[in-house]
Amino acid sequence: MKVITKRKEIQEISLKYKSEGKSIGFIPTMGYLHEGHLTLAKKARENNDIVIMSIFVNPLQFGPNEDFETYPRDLNRDEQLAENAGVDYLFVPPVEEIYPNSLSIQLTVQNRVNVLCGKKRVGHFDGVVTVLTKLFHLVLPNRVYFGLKDAQQVAVVDSLLEDFFFPIELVAVDTVREEDGLAKSSRNVYLNDQERIEAAQLQKSLQTAKLWILNGERNIEKIISSIKNHLETTTSGTIDYVEIYQYPTLMPLNELKGKIIIALAVQFSKARLIDNLVMEIS
Ligand code: AMP
Repeated sequence: MKVITKRKEIQEISLKYKSEGKSIGFIPTMGYLHEGHLTLAKKARENNDIVIMSIFVNPLQFGPNEDFETYPRDLNRDEQLAENAGVDYLFVPPVEEIYPNSLSIQLTVQNRVNVLCGKKRVGHFDGVVTVLTKLFHLVLPNRVYFGLKDAQQVAVVDSLLEDFFFPIELVAVDTVREEDGLAKSSRNVYLNDQERIEAAQLQKSLQTAKLWILNGERNIEKIISSIKNHLETTTSGTIDYVEIYQYPTLMPLNELKGKIIIALAVQFSKARLIDNLVMEIS
């Protein structure tokens, strides 16, 4: 595996492979790699000639009171893990390589962002699509791999590729979890011991809701308040949101039917955790 820090170099490498007709699979990440990221890399390895992963903590997608400065970083460990997962090129640019000048053009996401994390983290997805547009132009991937843990991000990237005619296939990968159901996340290191135990209840509350739905419950408000009640009684965190929408449009539902997402966010003392469940209801 080669580690690349310069944007020109990664683009030249990609152009060379493209001219040889090789396919490129790309996994954008913010690093501090765990089994979730590595599963994306392994999927990319199965279906592409060349696998490129980026590690870039993108300042543009962090709000002023968020954790950009303190976001966990461990490049030496990440290099080892990425290499073992079959990554060919690890692109780790410094901020000035990606943002050499102040931007003359702003990308603003219009749809799929006025709910869930997009509503709470104003400007977050504008930063995400901006950095992804830059990275896609550097890496020139045939396929990009994203985790459904960040289901709203998958929905927004789907719009980005469609609106701007990127010739890229989006591969959405199921959430990788700890044994107790907690979605793996770089931010889980912020949890204290007690919160780590409680954090399993996020997925548990969603699975319980799924069972109610499978048993015939169709009252959206009732499902939401039952999940909130579950989280309030089993965790010390503060509920940020529990919401249900159509997926991937993230439009409100009149009735519980079709492909839906139940998504939630809970703020613990230092970590804000998200989780979701996507299901098809006939
Ligand atoms: P991040 O480094 O948090 O920006 O994540 C990089 C990519 O890995 C995104 O597409 C995430 O959705 C994905 N990802 C993060 N955690 C998981 C997980 N537990 N399971 C599957 N994919 C994940």
